[in-house]
Amino acid sequence: MGELDHDDLHQSCHEACGVFGIFGPGEDVARITFFGLYALQHRGQESAGIVTADGERLTSHMRMGLVAQVFTEEDLLGLRGHIAIGHTRYSTTGSSKIYNAQPIIVRSPTCELAVAHNGNLVNASALREELVEQGCQFRTTTDTEVIARLFCEGPGTHLVDRIRLAMSRLQGAYSLVMTTKDQLLAVRDPLGVRPLCLGRLNSAWIVASESCALATVGAEYIREVAPGEIVKIDERGIESIQAVTSERQATCLFEYIYFARPDSVLNNRLVYQARQEMGRELAREHPADADIVIGVPDSAVPGAIGYAEESGIPYREGLVKNRYIGRTFIQPDQRLRDIGIHLKFNPLPEVLAGQRVVVVDDSIVRGTTKRPIVRLLRDAGAREVHVRIHAPPMVHPCYLGVDTARRSELVAARMSVPEICEYLGADSLGYLSLEGLVRAVRVAGGSLCNGCFTGNYPVPVQLDLDKFAFEQARLGEREGGERKARVSMV
Ligand code: AMP
Repeated sequence: MGELDHDDLHQSCHEACGVFGIFGPGEDVARITFFGLYALQHRGQESAGIVTADGERLTSHMRMGLVAQVFTEEDLLGLRGHIAIGHTRYSTTGSSKIYNAQPIIVRSPTCELAVAHNGNLVNASALREELVEQGCQFRTTTDTEVIARLFCEGPGTHLVDRIRLAMSRLQGAYSLVMTTKDQLLAVRDPLGVRPLCLGRLNSAWIVASESCALATVGAEYIREVAPGEIVKIDERGIESIQAVTSERQATCLFEYIYFARPDSVLNNRLVYQARQEMGRELAREHPADADIVIGVPDSAVPGAIGYAEESGIPYREGLVKNRYIGRTFIQPDQRLRDIGIHLKFNPLPEVLAGQRVVVVDDSIVRGTTKRPIVRLLRDAGAREVHVRIHAPPMVHPCYLGVDTARRSELVAARMSVPEICEYLGADSLGYLSLEGLVRAVRVAGGSLCNGCFTGNYPVPVQLDLDKFAFEQARLGEREGGERKARVSMV
């Protein structure tokens, strides 16, 4: 395999992913996991993998690419057992590499464990150094392997004891689905940053990042995995262990704004309804004198409908999205991003011509897609373009599992709102306030992570530290010794 380069390391800390697991004797667990991952594709498009367990051994299959590209019928038939876990991995920049694909499998003389992780640790570097000093040999650059090795090789006789002990040391976001040869485990960090829920399919138990995956496989939603909880499922049944308690929760606001699917339930609230409410709040905070409201498909459509309902301005479809184009966000340079927008959206001139248009979008990160969208609308004849965003200005990077670019790349960290408006070429620009957003989500503000809007993170992070410094340090470490990347995780 290729050598580690900067891009690889840069990439390895972007862990906004989808996880799925099933304990289902008598069920085709690999196939169900495949469909579960399909429903979680939006959480990660870089690689996908499934590990199954049959009571005696683990079997794995993982590749780069979309879920539908990664597994053939034959692959699924080869994944035998009554337990399966799966993972879709997300990364937004640089080249894609297989060695960071998940689930990862670690083995020690007493433990064999496969781990699928959604989140990001902020103290992985220190924990990793400690483990290396103790003789641990790492095969990847991911914080997931730090977690897996702590769980597998840390102090404690039983796996659950080791997990509990390790959880008191892990800082950051981790929603984990894991399997040994005969046990399915689900673990959520004490802050509950990333989602994780539990469902039932006949007599099988399912764990998934989002409830939309439960619905897809015909499972019944039971509840969320609680922050700080370990759920253990084996032939004796299901056991819940409240391993760590925290004074506060910190559910990621960006899950509500953009990341989660609208048909998922977070904190007992349908994401679709929360987004509609964001649109209503936005209309109250930033009204516009306009003829039509459109949304940037697909993520901003619920918000645009909410805006239209509240303002009384009719909702129309002004942009049609080509659903077979990947996220333009991932294009590596400005020129390609600009081309990307035209590949992704076509305007409907018959709807837009001569109209004063409110265009609602979920967020502005770099600002690079919004600018061409405004131009597209004007070229299609829109007389005025009023941009409305159903999130506050994003001024800080996320250190807890969503790749929202470096601070220097965030347009709101560099420009004021009027400057951004001018940069976009819009007639007006309005962002939803944090208060309005929290009202729409209907979770107490103190139980949400708003770090990307305020810089106040629920765990200590070094704001002045480039978030890729950890990876770069590891590059240095590797340059001193072996530089070969590992492919096989098994
Ligand atoms: P831009 O305005 O060019 O910064 O693009 C922001 C748009 O990209 C948003 O409206 C979202 O639809 C989408 N987006 C936001 N955050 C992310 C992310 N972390 N990864 C991929 N796409 C994102």
